[in-house]
Amino acid sequence: MDGVIAELERALGTGAVLSGEDVPAANRHDWSGLPATTPLALVRPRSTEEVAAVLRVCHAAGVPVVPQGGLTGLCGGARAATGEVALSLERLVGIEEIDAETATITVRAGTPLERAQEAASAAGFLLALDLGARGSCAIGGNVATNAGGNRVIRYGMTRDLVLGLEVVLPDGTVLTNLNKLVKNNAGYDLKQLFIGSEGTLGVVTRVVLRLHPLPASVAAGFCGLPDFPAVLALLQAARRQLGAGLSAFEGMWHEFYECMVTKASGVRAPLAGRHPFYVLLEAHGSDPTDGERFEAFLGRMLEQGVVADAAVAQSTAQVRAFWAVRDAVAEYATMIGPMVNFDVGLVTGRMHAVVEVLRREVAARWPGAVAHFYGHIGDGNLHVNVNVPGAVPQPKAEIEALVYRVVRDHGGSISAEHGIGVTKLAYLGYSRTPAELALMRTLKQAIDPRNILNPGKVVGG
Ligand SMILES: Cc1cc2nc3c(=O)[nH]c(=O)nc-3n(C[C@H](O)[C@H](O)[C@H](O)COP(=O)(O)OP(=O)(O)OC[C@H]3O[C@@H](n4cnc5c(N)ncnc54)[C@H](O)[C@@H]3O)c2cc1C
Repeated sequence: MDGVIAELERALGTGAVLSGEDVPAANRHDWSGLPATTPLALVRPRSTEEVAAVLRVCHAAGVPVVPQGGLTGLCGGARAATGEVALSLERLVGIEEIDAETATITVRAGTPLERAQEAASAAGFLLALDLGARGSCAIGGNVATNAGGNRVIRYGMTRDLVLGLEVVLPDGTVLTNLNKLVKNNAGYDLKQLFIGSEGTLGVVTRVVLRLHPLPASVAAGFCGLPDFPAVLALLQAARRQLGAGLSAFEGMWHEFYECMVTKASGVRAPLAGRHPFYVLLEAHGSDPTDGERFEAFLGRMLEQGVVADAAVAQSTAQVRAFWAVRDAVAEYATMIGPMVNFDVGLVTGRMHAVVEVLRREVAARWPGAVAHFYGHIGDGNLHVNVNVPGAVPQPKAEIEALVYRVVRDHGGSISAEHGIGVTKLAYLGYSRTPAELALMRTLKQAIDPRNILNPGKVVGG
């Protein structure tokens, strides 16, 4: 192993390779809650060529390499174990180009999402990908996890925003296709293989992303609703009447909302009364008068009894205040304690039936347990958070077995947007057929026959 570290130092220079106890604490874990590790080494290449050099050395020596972006992943995918080399993209940063004609931005993989958003905005464009971890997560990590986030209903997942990609394969081969064409059917669309592959097939080094025009108006409303059919009716009406402008449709079951507005710091209740369901609606307009259309829409929903109460944001600060209710999830640890978190995909119409089964089963198994439900309802993405008061540690494995069984029985996906990493590996068969799993393993074997890139993640092995 000393020989490998010496070779890595020769390839990158000594400052770019840290080993043993010199590996910083931040590079020893992600946000999955799994315990910290001590990887063999941390390498911090500055260019695609240096990434390729690292992979060539490790491939020849049979040493596993674990790509790391901003380390905000929630599934343990970026966690490098003992004997593995952590490959951080933190020095491969910067915006290479904003091309106004094609409305694209070319970004190096280690660039924080927020930095790319700000650069796009300064050039008069919207980089539509947005998530709570925007300040820390990196573009390469977003691509590797096919991140979703707050505006999928309008702009799609990361996959829908990627036009071109540069990736380094496990043996050090560089695959460059910084495509800017919307239409490009010249053979297999290889980039799709790497998007969402969680660093198991290649290391993303550069990305071309689509940009959209900055919206001329952003309208937001916070609604209280009497029942789940009303939530579905509001979604359908918003899709029809707000059209493509509908940019977020975030649902909250009452337990979640009540916790956030009473316990989260600086969060104020947007509505005075209590309701079984809440929806945060947002619309991006191309005309400054679109805000009036939005308000008129919510007025109609009130008249028709679809929503029981609604508040419309009158300023950007108020839009942010509405989102604060939804984004206060980051404070769970101080508000309630350790939560066992889920990010599942369900057909929208079935979501509440699943919530009811989960509420019942969790309460029967752990009386007094806290169970919160919220999510990107418009995308069929439900988040479930469970805490058993006083339990140290939390009965995580048992809660997971329960939630994933119910999700499987309702035809859902065990991962809507966070990925598989290692934490959901045991349940992948709940959402994929044996034939699909076999093809995933065939692809991994074909691209990484020595199994050196992020081994044991996503497909196991
Ligand atoms: C507060 C908070 C809110 C979040 N909200 C959302 C949300 O709304 N939607 C959502 O989808 N996710 C969300 N996440 C999860 C997380 O932010 C995303 O998965 C994000 O895309 C991970 O990016 P990262 O750079 O931190 O990746 P990391 O955590 O560093 O890595 C994640 C995975 O990608 C691989 N990887 C990283 N960089 C590369 C690369 N350059 N090439 C190849 N593989 C690579 C790693 O090996 C690992 O498997 C949230 C997380 C937090 C903490």
